[in-house]
Amino acid sequence: MTVDLTRLPTLKLGSRGSAVKAAKMGVNQWNAKKANTTPVYGLFFRPLVKRFQTAHGIPASGVIGDATWKALLPHLSAAAKALLPQVPAKPKIPNLGPIVKGGRSVLDHDLTHATDGIPLYPAYDDAFGQGVTVIAPEALTVTHQSSSRPGEAFYATGASGLKYWLAHLTASPAVGTKFRKGQPVGKTCANRVGGGPHCHVGVNVERLWGKGKQFAHHTDYTSGAPTIRQQLTVHELL
Ligand SMILES: [Zn+2]
Repeated sequence: MTVDLTRLPTLKLGSRGSAVKAAKMGVNQWNAKKANTTPVYGLFFRPLVKRFQTAHGIPASGVIGDATWKALLPHLSAAAKALLPQVPAKPKIPNLGPIVKGGRSVLDHDLTHATDGIPLYPAYDDAFGQGVTVIAPEALTVTHQSSSRPGEAFYATGASGLKYWLAHLTASPAVGTKFRKGQPVGKTCANRVGGGPHCHVGVNVERLWGKGKQFAHHTDYTSGAPTIRQQLTVHELL
């Protein structure tokens, strides 16, 4: 919970509302002489505000504007802050599943290589073995079909906002197909490239981080890049 400093109202004699109550609670916390905590800025409160302002190097106008709010913030209890406009919480990513039954969540993979020919989709490989069923790590909507030499591939957008390119499958589902989390999306095809049959999982984060952004990743099939979970945590999306 974070107070939105850009949306704090200016308070003066006669102002009403929960922000007045919050300001009184802040001034009371600082000052021995207590104002009542009704949501009305009355005559008794004004000299207290002026004293608070003087003590904080702010011209003693009795009007609570940006500078006074800034000085008041450290004196506000959680209860007082809760009365003020809040910065909306960022949408959080739900806990994603694996792409193969019993596998590790997408979040717990690190990205070991880029996707050849498709920028901004760094990837990991999983679901090793031919004919292995690949499942949706979250609710997915297929946005385009693609091919992957060997095999077929498709792009899908997840409910979280992550986008995927899933490749080396025997077939690609039709555009517009919706999968529930855990539902099979395809099977791995025969593949002699890159250590045998597997599903290539390219993950794009542009919808969450902004155009042109991508997950940190290795490019030489080595592990050790931060996991997707770690990277999303740094961005406060988990
Ligand atoms: Zn791959």
